[in-house]
Amino acid sequence: MAVSGIGPYDPQNIFARILRGELPCKKVYEDAYALAFHDIAPKAPVHVLVIPKGAYVSFADFSAKASEAEIAGFIRAVGMVARDLGLDAPGYRLVSNTGAEGGQEVPHFHVHLFGGRALGSMLP
Ligand code: C5P
Repeated sequence: MAVSGIGPYDPQNIFARILRGELPCKKVYEDAYALAFHDIAPKAPVHVLVIPKGAYVSFADFSAKASEAEIAGFIRAVGMVARDLGLDAPGYRLVSNTGAEGGQEVPHFHVHLFGGRALGSMLP
């Protein structure tokens, strides 16, 4: 079910529980600002989710409220994950579903990283 992109933040959402270690994930990368793990239902050969450590509902929330350090750290982490997965040369796609009409299902900001095959042009 799609969720609101403006909150309030639900600390029991599934990604918050993964961040607290209450639920497992297939971790790819972690630092002070971000956690990256394989999507449980991959839509491409590489389908990784990158989430910030902070409690932000969506891209809308994160871009408005996160500190410069959180934003910079998160974006650096996304790029590092893609690079470490060998995707810089062949290329990849980033997607962040935001709010109900954006199709967001988990109310903790996340970026989908897709790669590993030619993805074609993107149409909504
Ligand atoms: O952007 P959206 O909120 O729609 O995507 C949520 C993503 O989280 C889905 O791709 C889903 O497969 C993934 N997911 C996951 N592990 C969970 C629950 C959802 O990887 N435990």
